[in-house]
Amino acid sequence: MGLNANQEPRADEHISDPERARRVAFSMMQDADTQRQRAEKALKKLEESIQQLEEARRSAEAANRAKSVFLANMSHEIRTPMNAILGFSQLMQRDPALTPQQRQHLDTINRSGEHLLALINDILEVSRIEAGRTTIHPATFDMHALLEDMEMMFRLRADDKQLRLSIERAADVPRYVVADENKLRQVLINLLGNAVKFTAKGGITLRVGTRQANSVLRLMFDVEDTGPGIAQAEMERIFDPFEQTQAGRHAGSGTGLGLAISREFVRLMDGEITVTSEVGKGSVFRFDVVVTQGESTAAGRKTVLRQVVKLQPGQRTHRVLIADDVEDNRELLRTLLEAIGFETTQAVDGEEVLRQFERCQPDLILLDLRMPVLDGYEVIRRIRAKTGSPPVKIIVVTASAFQESRQAILAAGADDFILKPFRNAKLLETIREFLGVKYIYADETAVATTVAASKIDRAALAALPREWLDAMRNAATNADMDHLLEVIARIEPRDAALARGLRQLMERFDYKKLLQLLQLETNGS
Ligand code: ADP
Repeated sequence: MGLNANQEPRADEHISDPERARRVAFSMMQDADTQRQRAEKALKKLEESIQQLEEARRSAEAANRAKSVFLANMSHEIRTPMNAILGFSQLMQRDPALTPQQRQHLDTINRSGEHLLALINDILEVSRIEAGRTTIHPATFDMHALLEDMEMMFRLRADDKQLRLSIERAADVPRYVVADENKLRQVLINLLGNAVKFTAKGGITLRVGTRQANSVLRLMFDVEDTGPGIAQAEMERIFDPFEQTQAGRHAGSGTGLGLAISREFVRLMDGEITVTSEVGKGSVFRFDVVVTQGESTAAGRKTVLRQVVKLQPGQRTHRVLIADDVEDNRELLRTLLEAIGFETTQAVDGEEVLRQFERCQPDLILLDLRMPVLDGYEVIRRIRAKTGSPPVKIIVVTASAFQESRQAILAAGADDFILKPFRNAKLLETIREFLGVKYIYADETAVATTVAASKIDRAALAALPREWLDAMRNAATNADMDHLLEVIARIEPRDAALARGLRQLMERFDYKKLLQLLQLETNGS
């Protein structure tokens, strides 16, 4: 290598080329070594981080499992006494000798109980979603009827606050669609409920349209209100569980779970929910769900639950074995079933169920799943494994809403499944379905009357105690037909003709007329 006269001699000038090459190689090796060491260090760090993450994941999973177990147990523990509270207060409401004040107190107990239950159900739903255990059950239903239900449900609440309510359905929204009706209903109830709750002036509009792309049919929903609106910064957060804005906290009610549940339900139905809003002007919640067009013949008919008085005479005796380790639960079922005319026996644990099954040959077993000695599943298995014994119907009555799935219970060999707390009318209807028994219903015991459904005696209605009218109105506003029937049943002993007229309106699904009448009376008196 030649030397330039103007340049300083290099420090390694005297070193021969091979030596230089050796040094370069050595320093390269050293570099490589340091790099390798660095890489090894980084790798080690990475491994450590992965290990830490893995540990964090494991402990998060364990915490999640613990949370699930806790929720399952808590839910079971709450449902069991709730079953007694709601069940016995429903039973007492059948008593014609009650004073109006006692009825009012019972109503309050019942309403508060139902409210508590709705809350527990919401919390459970969120945990189920978090645990990835929510699934959809698509079936054919009447979409137009669902929208009419929404109108009926929210019309009075909106009127009460002097808000406009309009439901606009595009001409191409099919009548019969296949989707998860209950989830769709719950999303609409949440959004319309919020719109009515937060809006003080103006109105609420629900618009329903369709969009078809690549042979996928979507229903598009807009819930628009003229309420307080939501600040930009809060828009994403309101969809998180337990998040409320100022407006929500001021409303003094609600849990901040409605939108979180709605978002997950909409996602499960392959849609998205979004909000646009302007503070002081109002909000629009928009969502879409994928549906397919359904056939009218596939649409299930909704049965209105009727108040049962007793079994029709002339049928053979039907024996029911009540299996539950909690005495209150057994007592509730015994009182209800014996009042209707069933014969009952009881068992307090799984082994006793098997003994009683052999001894009394029941037609039906109402079976709790969590029982000492042998649990409900084992009992079902052993009974179903017995050959030669007469077929028995098994209806599981359980407070474990969280961990028991309908499929698992049916797969185990049960005929059906009822969740505690249950409505008396619902339990009796399920029993009728499986035993084929015939009941006398409250509306049939009313003396024949000349009051036609369309001609309800307004004076008689106005003469009812105020709290009865309020209770009916509440029930109608919440589309709670079971409860409405219970209230009508209370009118029975006092004014059979009026009770019959109201019931006929209900059974002809003439809700509009019914609500109109009730509203006139509650506003007018
Ligand atoms: P909740 O209504 O029980 O508080 P949600 O999850 O349904 O719970 O709603 C969360 C929050 O989002 C509400 O508390 C409220 O602050 C806000 N919000 C929801 N809907 C509206 C609306 N239509 N207008 C204004 N704010 C709303």
